[in-house]
This record gives sequence, structure tokens and C-alpha cells, in this order.
Amino acid sequence: MKLAGKKGLITGGNSGIGLATARLFIAEGAQVAITGRDQETIDEAIAELGPNARGYRADVTIAADRQQLFAALAEDFGKLDIVFANAGISGKTPTGSTDEAVFENIIHINLNGAFFTVNSAAPLLNDGGSVIFNGSVHNHLGQPGMAAYAATKGGLVSMARAIAADLAPRGIRVNVVAPGATKTPIWSRGGRANAPAEESAKLAKFVASAIPLGRWGEPEELAKAVLFLASDDSSYVNAIELTVDGGVTGAP
Ligand code: NDP
Repeated sequence: MKLAGKKGLITGGNSGIGLATARLFIAEGAQVAITGRDQETIDEAIAELGPNARGYRADVTIAADRQQLFAALAEDFGKLDIVFANAGISGKTPTGSTDEAVFENIIHINLNGAFFTVNSAAPLLNDGGSVIFNGSVHNHLGQPGMAAYAATKGGLVSMARAIAADLAPRGIRVNVVAPGATKTPIWSRGGRANAPAEESAKLAKFVASAIPLGRWGEPEELAKAVLFLASDDSSYVNAIELTVDGGVTGAP
């Protein structure tokens, strides 16, 4: 049990990588709080995760939601040991035709939302705790239409270094996990929800040819990396970005 007695918050824990991480954290002995905006999937996740999980509806971009969430966490959990700032959306913002509101929404959720989650969590974190942001290989890949998304994911890495400096006096480590193409619902919503068939074919070709392992990542494979960063197995790992991408960022 790598997380026995630990208490963790996972934003976006009702889906994809967040939900897979909640399952693994609980299997490793933790109590977990999951958040999301969609009450139905939060309820489904809690029913599946069992008594060591609690669910909270909170939009990471809304200050009143965060205030309510962290008041409830203080009441229900007391302190926290782990924060996985995972909530995020994808979306296309092609240069020359992007609406300002679309661009800003990606920044608000992926970057501002992640910062203000950790900002609110910091007073509740036990000394020696662990903060993990969910980044992306888009920090390294210049792909068309991904300006806003890439900016948020690169921003998380530089932000994590500064936050690591803020929290190091308390022994709190701050790292980023950077997934490559991982099989989750994100690919069928947001910016890609209306992806034309040729884009899906392009994507399948990309996965087969550009990813050295030649396949998608599974959310469970990301969860294992988050567990590493959350647990004492990474006790001297701080202020880094851990790519979990089948080798795509290392490929020539
Ligand atoms: P999902 O779409 O399955 O999960 C996204 C989660 O974020 C959902 O639980 C969603 O909950 C939550 N969320 C989105 N917006 C908000 C908001 N404003 N407030 C609170 N919660 C919110 O996709 P993934 O699991 O793939 O995504 C998780 C993270 O992984 C994201 O940050 C993403 O950028 C990153 N990532 C994913 C990759 C992939 O290929 N899957 C690759 C690289 C990075 P709800 O719907 O209830 O709001």
C-alpha cells in the first residue's frame, strides 16, 4: 500500500485519467475526493469507487465553487496529502480564425483553474505532501490549431517550478505528468467533438506512425505515473515534467 492513510484531491476525477487515478489511489490505501462539473458522472464514479471516495461538484474556473469545495474538504477530510490538478479540456484554436472566448476558456480551465485549485489547496496540504499537474506532450509538439492548449500545458510546467519553490520549505513536492495520446473521453468532446472522419483517420495514422510504441496510452498507465509522483517512491523528485507518451517526444 503506497498511499496508506493518505488523503488526495483529484479534480476531474469523474472521468478518464482522473478516474483511473482515483481507482489506483484507493487501491493503494488512500481516501480520495473527486470533483467535476457533471453531477451524474460524479455520482456514477462514487458508486463505483466506494466508501473511500467522496464527490463534489465544482467548476475549477468559478471562485465561489472553489470556496465551497475547499470549505467542504476541510470539514470532510481535515487535511490533504495529495492534489492532482487534472481537470482540463482540449480545443482547436487555429491562428487567424479563433474566437477570443474559445481561446480564453481553454486558458481559464487548464491554467487558471489548475493554479487556483492549488492556491486554495495549499493551506490544507500537510507538510511533505505532493502536488501533481496534468500537462501534455503539446508542451513539446508544435501541432496545428493547438496554440491555446499548448500554451496552457507549457504554462503548467513553468508554473509548477515556481510553485515548487513556494512550497519546498514545507517539503511539498510539485511535479507535472505529461501524457501523450491517451484513450479517454477528451477525444470525443470539446474541440474534437465534431472532428470530421478524415481527422480521425489522420489521428489513427499519427498514433500508428509517430508514436514509437505505435499505440494509444491507457488511462491506467497514466495513473501509475501519477501514483509514482504522489507517493514516497518519488520522494526526491521535484519540479519536473514526467512525460508518459510512448516515446513521442523522444522520437526524432
Ligand atoms: P476527460 O475529458 O475524460 O477528463 C477531463 C476532466 O476534466 C473531466 O472529469 C471533466 O469533468 C473535468 N473538467 C473539465 N473542465 C472542468 C472545469 N471547468 N471544472 C472542473 N472540472 C472540469 O479527459 P482526460 O482524462 O484525458 O483529461 C484529463 C487531463 O489530461 C486534462 O488536463 C488533459 O488536458 C490531459 N491530457 C489528456 C490527454 C489524452 O490524450 N487523453 C493527453 C494529454 C493531456 P466534467 O466533464 O464533469 O466537467
